[in-house]
Amino acid sequence: MEPVRRRTRSVRVGALTLGGGAPVRIQSMTKTDTNDVAATVRQVRTLARAGCEIVRVAVPGHDAVAAFAAIRAKVSLPLVADIHFDHRLAIACIDAGADKVRLNPGNIGGTERMQEVARRAGERGCAIRVGVNAGSLEKDLQLKHGGATPAALVESAVRAVRDLEAVGFRAIVVSLKASSVLHTIAAYRLAARALRYPLHLGVTEAGWGLAGIVKSSVGMGALLADGIGDTLRVSLTDTPVAEVRVAREILSAVGLRRVGVEIISCPTCGRCGIDLQRTARAVRRSLADITTPLTVAVMGCPVNGPGEAKAADFGLAGGKGRAVIFSRGKIVKTVPESSMIDALVEAVREQSGRHERGRGRV
Ligand code: SF4
Repeated sequence: MEPVRRRTRSVRVGALTLGGGAPVRIQSMTKTDTNDVAATVRQVRTLARAGCEIVRVAVPGHDAVAAFAAIRAKVSLPLVADIHFDHRLAIACIDAGADKVRLNPGNIGGTERMQEVARRAGERGCAIRVGVNAGSLEKDLQLKHGGATPAALVESAVRAVRDLEAVGFRAIVVSLKASSVLHTIAAYRLAARALRYPLHLGVTEAGWGLAGIVKSSVGMGALLADGIGDTLRVSLTDTPVAEVRVAREILSAVGLRRVGVEIISCPTCGRCGIDLQRTARAVRRSLADITTPLTVAVMGCPVNGPGEAKAADFGLAGGKGRAVIFSRGKIVKTVPESSMIDALVEAVREQSGRHERGRGRV
């Protein structure tokens, strides 16, 4: 079962489309110093291998524009320049080949500057994300609404969108991020009614570890289940690859996209014949780089093990110091517990390797 997606305009971002029925795209942001071109390019490539489809790079000053141009020349993934305060940075990044620029209406300096960027973006086929953030909302809207309420965030976005439309610009994506999960959900629901542009989902500053994952999953999962959202970025105090993995899991959990390996593992009980927790963790870690959608079952005993392992793309059914390895519903071998992880990983890689090797330059 899949959610019924909200219809939006479609917006090109490099070779990809956002909205208009296109798959929900996974984004992340590099955490390297943008001026360190080699490290940033390395991180973009690592993100692409992890399943990230659009990468945003911070451009905090004019020296970073040259670095952005150098990064642009080295990667083919759609690249977004993240701009605050100075609209001239946005224009320079558009000239350097940005596929999208993120502008914050709360700090970019008003209508004329927004429109100046839009004119150049229109000439160059670059999209603009109107990226409203509760932490930097315009003062007049804070006063009007009594703070950065969901309605205030949406009014900020609508005002910026109208500014862009006034100069004929429509390659617009909108985000309304707050660190409160409920505010975020309410703001996106309002925006989905007010605007027909693709929505970029995010719960900003979600934090670290389990709490950050849960906040992101609840906020974005609720919206995606309602059909709202065309691209998402999970913001964690963690590596960007961790963000991409969480985004993949969220999309998979709501039935929107299967990207990479979904592990089906039993909760274990008194019948469990193998060290299942360690096995499931090791299998997941070993297959984390695979982006082809696959199900891999790791089951502890003969009760449900063979059934689940057979139904999955690949599987392992353990018991009494041995494990049966399944590939596409068929038993391929029975191995001792000591080599079952290697045997399962090998079976998966043998079958999926050709597709993964065929992936293009990132
Ligand atoms: Fe228990 Fe076996 Fe079910 Fe796992 S598959 S929970 S070990 S009965």
